Amino acid sequence: MVDKTIKTKTQEASPEEEKLFTSLRASSWSEFCGQENVKTALRISITAAKERGEAIEHILFYGPPGLGKTTLSHIVAREMGANLRITSGPAIARSGDLASILTNLEKGDILFIDEIHRLHKTVEETMYSAMEDFALDIVLGKGPSARTLRLDLPQFTIIGATTRAGLLSAPLRDRFGVVHRLNFYEPSELGTIIIGGAKKLKIAIDEESIKEIAKRARGTPRIALKLLKRVRDYAQVKREGQIDLSATKAALKMLEVDAMGLDPLDIRFMKAIIEKHNGGPVGIETIASTISEDIGTVEEIVEPYLLQIGFLQRTARGRVATKTSYEHLGLTYPAQNELF
Ligand code: ADP
Repeated sequence: MVDKTIKTKTQEASPEEEKLFTSLRASSWSEFCGQENVKTALRISITAAKERGEAIEHILFYGPPGLGKTTLSHIVAREMGANLRITSGPAIARSGDLASILTNLEKGDILFIDEIHRLHKTVEETMYSAMEDFALDIVLGKGPSARTLRLDLPQFTIIGATTRAGLLSAPLRDRFGVVHRLNFYEPSELGTIIIGGAKKLKIAIDEESIKEIAKRARGTPRIALKLLKRVRDYAQVKREGQIDLSATKAALKMLEVDAMGLDPLDIRFMKAIIEKHNGGPVGIETIASTISEDIGTVEEIVEPYLLQIGFLQRTARGRVATKTSYEHLGLTYPAQNELF
C-alpha cells in the first residue's frame, strides 16, 4: 500500500527527525549539493523525456542511507511536473497491493519505492511485466480453469531506492534504464548543506563550527543536519544560544561523536575486530554476532563509511582492520602485520 512514512528503521530516523528532514529537504537542483555526475545525467534524462513527451525511464538510486536518494526522487518528480507516490518494498505485501497501486497511477506518475530490495519475491515478479510492458498479468481462478487477464497500465516511472543493490535480483535490476550510485560527500559539500539547513532553521552558526560538524558527519547529509540540530539544542540550553567551536565540540563530545565522526557502534565494531579477532581477517557474521548487532545494520550503516575512510579492508578471507584504525583508536599495530 502507498504509505507516507519514508524510513522506519531505528538506525535511520525517528518520526521526529523525519519531520525535520522533510522540512529541510532540498527541493530543487540548486539546493541539492554535490553528486554532480548524477545531477548532470538526470537532467539530461529529464530533458530528453520531456522533449519526447514521455515518462522518464525507470531509475534506481543506490548507496548508504541519508545520501539523498529520496530527495533526488522528489526533485525528479518536480522537474518532470509529475505526481510522486511514495511507498516501500516491505509495505507492498502482495501482488494485489501492487496491482491496486499501479492501476491507480496516471500517465507520467512516478512511484517511489524505498528499500526496493525488500520487495516480496511474488510482488517482484509481477513487477517485471509492469515495468517492461506497462501491463499487469492477473491470474483469475485456480487450477485448470485459471485464466490470465492482461491489464494495460498508463506509462509511469518507478524510482527505486536501496542501500543494498547487491540484494536486488538481476532481472529487477535490468529493468531500470537509469542506475545511479550515490557517494559519500566531501566535508566542503556538507558545509554547504549545513549552511542551507541553518538558514532554514534560522540558526546563527560560525564557520569553524560548520567545518567541525561537516568533518564529523560521516560524509552524510542526514547526519550533518541531525548534528546541526543537536548542537543548536546544546548551545541553547548550555551556552545561551551561542554556537561557537567550543560549544560545538562540547555538544559532539556529549553525543559521543569522535573526531572522525565515529559513534560508539563504529568503535565497538572496530574494537571487536582488533581486540577479539586479532585485527582480522574475520567474517562479517562473526563480527556482527560478537557485538550482538544485526548483520544488515552492520553492512548498511557501519561498514560503508569505515571502508570509505580506510579503517577497514574487505578481503576474500574477511574484514581486516587497517593500521590507520589502530592509530585512531590509540592501539598498537602488531609488528608482524607491518610485513604485509
Ligand atoms: P536517503 O533517501 O538517501 O536516505 P534523503 O533524501 O532522505 O536520503 O536525505 C536526508 C536528508 O539530507 C534530507 O533532509 C535531504 O534534504 C538532505 N540531503 C541529502 N542529500 C542532500 C544534498 N545533496 N544537498 C542538500 N541536502 C541533502
